[in-house]
Amino acid sequence: MNSRFGNAPQIRRGFSLIEILVVLVIIVILSSITYGVLLGHNKNAPPGKGHNPIERAHDTECINNVHQVHLAILAAQAGDTDGKSPASLEELKLPKEMLSCPVGHQPYVYDPATGQVHCPYPGHENFQ
Ligand SMILES: [Zn+2]
Repeated sequence: MNSRFGNAPQIRRGFSLIEILVVLVIIVILSSITYGVLLGHNKNAPPGKGHNPIERAHDTECINNVHQVHLAILAAQAGDTDGKSPASLEELKLPKEMLSCPVGHQPYVYDPATGQVHCPYPGHENFQ
């Protein structure tokens, strides 16, 4: 083993600049991959199919809101003497933020004739 100090035993302290740079490059490559995978920066994703965890959380919140509104409609129907659906969602006396999409901020579409409610936001139409 030849070092630049002749035959003196090579004493290594810490890492060389090249080693540190190689590790930094590996970290940058891995973090760019995980950034794309975990945070879902997929521009080809259709709206409402958010791959971003925050978008997915809002999607889940919307699904939950629509479900809760649907349950409140069923409860109102059960409480009504004629079994009729409430005329509007405001009659349900739910918190105002539960009556609109947390993503698109559009109010939920309600059909008093059928008692069905759905989210008008693109990609949320099937949330029930
Ligand atoms: Zn929605």
